[in-house]
Amino acid sequence: MQKIKMTTPLVEMDGDEMTRVLWAMIKDELIHPFVELNTEYYDLGLVERERTKDKVTFDSAYATKKYGVAVKCATITPNRQRVEEYNLSEMWKSPNGTIRAILDGTVFRAPILIDSIRPAVRNWKAPITIARHAYGDVYKATEYRVPTQGKAELVFTDKDGNETFRETVYDFECPGVLQSQYNKDNSIRSFAHACFQYAIDTKQDLWFSTKDTISKQYDQTFKLIFQEIYEASYKEKFEELGIEYFYTLIDDAVARVIRSEGGFIWACKNYDGDVMSDMVSTAFGSLAMMTSVLVAPDGTTEYEAAHGTVTRHYYRYLKGETTSTNPMATIFAWSGALRKRGQLDGLGDLVDFADKLEAACLQTLNDGIMTKDLVGLVVPGTQVTSVNSLEFLKAIRERLEAALA
Ligand code: NAP
Ligand code: MG
Repeated sequence: MQKIKMTTPLVEMDGDEMTRVLWAMIKDELIHPFVELNTEYYDLGLVERERTKDKVTFDSAYATKKYGVAVKCATITPNRQRVEEYNLSEMWKSPNGTIRAILDGTVFRAPILIDSIRPAVRNWKAPITIARHAYGDVYKATEYRVPTQGKAELVFTDKDGNETFRETVYDFECPGVLQSQYNKDNSIRSFAHACFQYAIDTKQDLWFSTKDTISKQYDQTFKLIFQEIYEASYKEKFEELGIEYFYTLIDDAVARVIRSEGGFIWACKNYDGDVMSDMVSTAFGSLAMMTSVLVAPDGTTEYEAAHGTVTRHYYRYLKGETTSTNPMATIFAWSGALRKRGQLDGLGDLVDFADKLEAACLQTLNDGIMTKDLVGLVVPGTQVTSVNSLEFLKAIRERLEAALA
């Protein structure tokens, strides 16, 4: 069989622990035999981040900006324990945070569904993708524990030093709490563009929800910016594709999401997205089946799994045990990135390969061959064979070879 050729390089970001082990296995079993892989490789493993003083993370993000598509392995975000474990000179920041900041991107999370694992919400039939605006609001709030009686005010002074706004927040007659949040039009705009772009890319409806009836300046601004950008830049394309942009209040959205069949993108403000993504992913089944895509306002895209480096499995692997770690979300990161690369470069056979790779994964699971984590989740009565990671990859490879033959 002739290997599929690539033109533009794909930015490849390697990572840590068990997912780093899976990364190499996935390439060996499912990519290299079929594709003449052309990647620009960046090792974001913690050892290399330490060696380069985290420069490698920045370089990988700039390369992503340059080429437009990246695939990323899960990486350790150092904490105090990791600083000791890896003898780090500094507690390097989360690579995902660094990359997201450089790309000004929005994260979209979507579950992979299979027939034998039913979502907790019975009527959900297709994935619900959550887009979280990961900037500002309560995550960048200034807070004060009010100790005693006194007046809290909100004051704005413009760049020339003129006080243009002053309003009493509350005249405290007793101790209490105080918080102020902010966001920026720029960031909201980038968020909106990423959401509309991704809706077009995946041909799904886009829902957006805030509490603008109560928050008449703050949330209202989000609503108006989305509306303006939709009308100006995306309305025509949405109509052409037969997809819809739909705004509603957050509480109405929650009710509609639960009653829906799924199959749309739900854009959320920062806190709503934090909470709802955990709820939606748990209701769909398993973290190991959750994909994550970072989309920049210019359409630059980075694909990864939503889960971490699966440390507990890695320690067992180091002791020589074979583990049954689920590679699905990481494989789908590869297929997503290869498909996107294929679409951008007009490589039909690469797009076709990505489709067939995903189909082979789903077929394997639907044939009852799965990693341990999924065995406990399938509907009772399903015939399953529990396999380790390598056996699972080999079962996928068999089906992929058959599909490509
Ligand atoms: P995790 O790696 O997602 O794993 C948490 C647990 O979920 C695992 O112990 C395992 O449960 C289960 N699990 C997750 N993915 C699985 C898979 N593919 N197959 C089977 N089971 C899976 O989260 P964590 O242990 O909290 O974090 C570990 C490291 O990952 C941390 O250093 C953290 O900084 C990093 N992290 C990175 C990213 C990223 O790069 N995007 C995201 C999150 C966390 P059992 O052990 O019960 O089998
Ligand atoms: Mg959360």
